[in-house]
Amino acid sequence: MRAKGPGPGPDGQLDRGDLPALQSSIATWKAGWNVKIALRLRQVAAHVTGHHGIARMKLTFLGTRGYIDAATDRHCRHTATLVEYRGRRVMIDCGADWRDRFQEHHPQAIVLTHAHPDHAWGLKSGTARPVYASAQTWEAIADYPLEDRHLVEPGRPEEIRGITFTLFPVEHSTRCPAGGYRIEAGRVTIFYVPDVVYIHDRQSALSGCKLYVGDGATVERSLVRKPGDRLIGHTPVRTQLTWCQKEGVPRAIFTHLGSEIVKGGDETAMARIGPLAEERGVDVRLAFDGMVQVLR
Ligand SMILES: [Zn+2]
Ligand SMILES: [Zn+2]
Repeated sequence: MRAKGPGPGPDGQLDRGDLPALQSSIATWKAGWNVKIALRLRQVAAHVTGHHGIARMKLTFLGTRGYIDAATDRHCRHTATLVEYRGRRVMIDCGADWRDRFQEHHPQAIVLTHAHPDHAWGLKSGTARPVYASAQTWEAIADYPLEDRHLVEPGRPEEIRGITFTLFPVEHSTRCPAGGYRIEAGRVTIFYVPDVVYIHDRQSALSGCKLYVGDGATVERSLVRKPGDRLIGHTPVRTQLTWCQKEGVPRAIFTHLGSEIVKGGDETAMARIGPLAEERGVDVRLAFDGMVQVLR
């Protein structure tokens, strides 16, 4: 008699007693392959989608109301937008409506366009998260208890959590100078400017953009004033659609909606905006709180 473990004996033969051991080693082998296949699938998925989730730019319009008294379910909170890419989350603007509330959306960083109440006052109680803003915006919110401050300089691309933000100064306010951001992630580039009269270097800002996210304070009526030698206020949607047409931007979404649109309703507004956009060959939408837009 040979003392026998599982597997063939010295004669190379298997007997019935080997069966359970063989079955178990086949199971181990299969499990090993399953693990290998699962790992390979994950590698392929990571290659396709980036290492942390989607490789598309995802915009969530958290709030879409301008600095107005009117508010509806559809346009309830001050304009703020979450940009996501590969699982990273950057919030643009944090107005008074978002105070003690923005944390719900777990932004990993916050980028400000300017220091007006509807864009920055939500940070009054502070946050430990990194905050990015221009020198003028930092000056205006110098006393906020923000621990992780980053200076954004016009025209200098800033990589924030894997998403590139380039600040373009715009006319809008003399007290709180504003900017728009050219935002790039993967193959997608968009321009985001919630409050604007005029973009200084419009061509560089908009060229090659898939989407323009603009200021919906007014459809056609001008809200631009000139109290001194500078223009302040908001340029109409119509003019911004013309910018898109001139710079070849195929799509526009308007946020930061004014009382005209919030009180009158989106459908009424779209009945006027739709033809203006069509004339200019631009696909247009009005944002609403919670609206998601995925770009690839
Ligand atoms: Zn403003
Ligand atoms: Zn505003």
